[in-house]
Amino acid sequence: MSAPQLPGWRHVASGKVRELYRPQVADGTMLLVATDRVSAFDVVLTPAIPGKGALLTRLSRWWFEHLPDVPNHLVADQSAVPRAVRDRAMLVRSLHMHPVECVVRGYLTGSGLLEYRRTGAVCGVALPAGLQDGDRLPEPIFTPAFKAEPGEHDPNITFDEVVALVGSETAAGLRDTSLHMYATAERISRERGLLLADTKFEFGDDPVTGELVLADEVLTSDSSRYWDAAAYDEGRRGVGFDKQIVRDWIQEHWDGKGSPPVLPPEIVTQTAARYAELVDRLVS
Ligand code: ATP
Ligand code: MG
Repeated sequence: MSAPQLPGWRHVASGKVRELYRPQVADGTMLLVATDRVSAFDVVLTPAIPGKGALLTRLSRWWFEHLPDVPNHLVADQSAVPRAVRDRAMLVRSLHMHPVECVVRGYLTGSGLLEYRRTGAVCGVALPAGLQDGDRLPEPIFTPAFKAEPGEHDPNITFDEVVALVGSETAAGLRDTSLHMYATAERISRERGLLLADTKFEFGDDPVTGELVLADEVLTSDSSRYWDAAAYDEGRRGVGFDKQIVRDWIQEHWDGKGSPPVLPPEIVTQTAARYAELVDRLVS
């Protein structure tokens, strides 16, 4: 899991999925290198999913292009990206990140569904009674989570808690921009036969201008749930192009204690195929 050495770059951090570098001579930029690692429920699993880092990077770049009205962290000139990692790295502005995962849900499933079943609400947003797994919500909702320290679970929080963390102006910016991007992405996905069930954005402030900037990866199969629209309309709700296969397998084979079991080859192959199919359907 050690990060590759890149001449001219200083490795500064390892996330669960990405390696972060800064130029040897700091200039306010950063290199985000996506590996093939896969994580679920905040733990990194083995083995890696071949080709995943490149596929996710392609998706992020494509979505940044399709969200032109939201300032994002990509640096205009990408020519400094080292050849060795060209297809899975992005050169970005280094931002002051807000410690909020800006989740938007158009459909109810996963951790949102669990919270709804316990409380009738998600992140303080009350929902109608009687919703089932996979149901479309009356309208998309902003359901933020607090970005906890590495290794800790990111708990869902209310909008008021976001205000307490970042102030009311930034909180409103995070919410409104997230809902706006979800609406755009949902429409574009639908035109391609895909339902965007939910997704997560991250933002930071530009340290020089103070501008709120879209960061991280966007609308990838790691940060989002994509479903096949035709299958959904026929009542088959499990057909997704994300890491749900991995989540389901881990949930069935691991009680969350000790280290997780190694993913079997067929799960790795299926996941790689689903990720590739999403890129095919969206980008091509
Ligand atoms: P985390 O839970 O902190 O997101 P992670 O394991 O998900 O950790 P990765 O996604 O592998 O981390 O690595 C990417 C890291 O880089 C994240 O912590 C993300 O918040 C951060 N990041 C993304 N874009 C920027 C940016 N423009 N400036 C500074 N940090 C960024
Ligand atoms: Mg991350």
